[in-house]
Amino acid sequence: MIDLDQMVVPLEALEPESPQELRDELLEALREAAAQRLPGLSIELDYVEAEQRFTFYAFVKITEANLEHARTLCEVELGEELGFDLWWLNTEAASFLRVEPPQWARFRSAAERAVRATIARRRDHRALAAFERWAAEHPPEGRRPAWHPEVEPVSLAQTTTFEVSASYYGGPAWLEPDAPWPACPACARPMELLLHLDPFHTPLADADAPPYELFQCTECGEGRLARAVPGDAELRPSPLDDLHCRPKHIVGWRAVDDYPSFGRAAAQHEAAVARRGDKLGGWPARLQGTRDEPFACPECGAETTIVYQLDSDSHAEHTWGDGGRLWLHVCPRHREHPQVSWECS
Ligand SMILES: [Zn+2]
Ligand SMILES: [Zn+2]
Repeated sequence: MIDLDQMVVPLEALEPESPQELRDELLEALREAAAQRLPGLSIELDYVEAEQRFTFYAFVKITEANLEHARTLCEVELGEELGFDLWWLNTEAASFLRVEPPQWARFRSAAERAVRATIARRRDHRALAAFERWAAEHPPEGRRPAWHPEVEPVSLAQTTTFEVSASYYGGPAWLEPDAPWPACPACARPMELLLHLDPFHTPLADADAPPYELFQCTECGEGRLARAVPGDAELRPSPLDDLHCRPKHIVGWRAVDDYPSFGRAAAQHEAAVARRGDKLGGWPARLQGTRDEPFACPECGAETTIVYQLDSDSHAEHTWGDGGRLWLHVCPRHREHPQVSWECS
């Protein structure tokens, strides 16, 4: 059985036909996780058949500069090499390698996630079942609430009675009296409003957040914009005659539990992943590999929070690349400058 606390992964039991192929795929994913979390170390990765486990060793050459420090760990001579098992690093060894404890913890969880994601991608029930015991002892972490919108189509005429506190898809936007309608930076045509959202009047009940709007160029597909609605904004009809995103009023929210993308691979935890589809709050259901980094604020570098996820071919009636997704996210310190990011598979 799989035991990621020990990095034990019985390849032959998981994939009797091509254990070598699975081993190479896992080595590649683990190498990437280790290189990202422990940059600057020269790491040798291996799979020890007898123990059915992956190992990570860092080797350090002993020089005049580190000889004294190295001798506090063991007897060693100039020119020798010291090897460290990175999976089981004690504090002294970590200090010698200049690896901070939180950094080491992030390396361990990134490596665990890399294994889970690689196995989950194969969609093999044998492999998923092998996770069950370990997963049962390691309940999913990172639960957050999210809400799927319940929408009702409305006519353009009905949107003229919307208050700024409404949340809706498509149609008019809230702009300052003199502000031009947002144009696409690539093709200069007017962009379409996909979403108007007032976080205070949603289950987020965020009293400090202004209403937000998301625009997308539906002509060339390149331009997109997230903006905060200023206090003096007025409702303005869309200048476009032909709307791809037809107006829909968000009339309710359906609460769900949401988890980080690759939270669990085991069958019993299939629901413990970031949910697809349009949703308020929660975790982004990211599409690119094992990337689990939060989106950073471009102004202060802080972790931003996800306000909304728009999925391809959903209420916004738009497709980002090949079935991509788009996120409206905001820095807790810069609520007036919402960000927009997207990915496709
Ligand atoms: Zn455009
Ligand atoms: Zn910030």
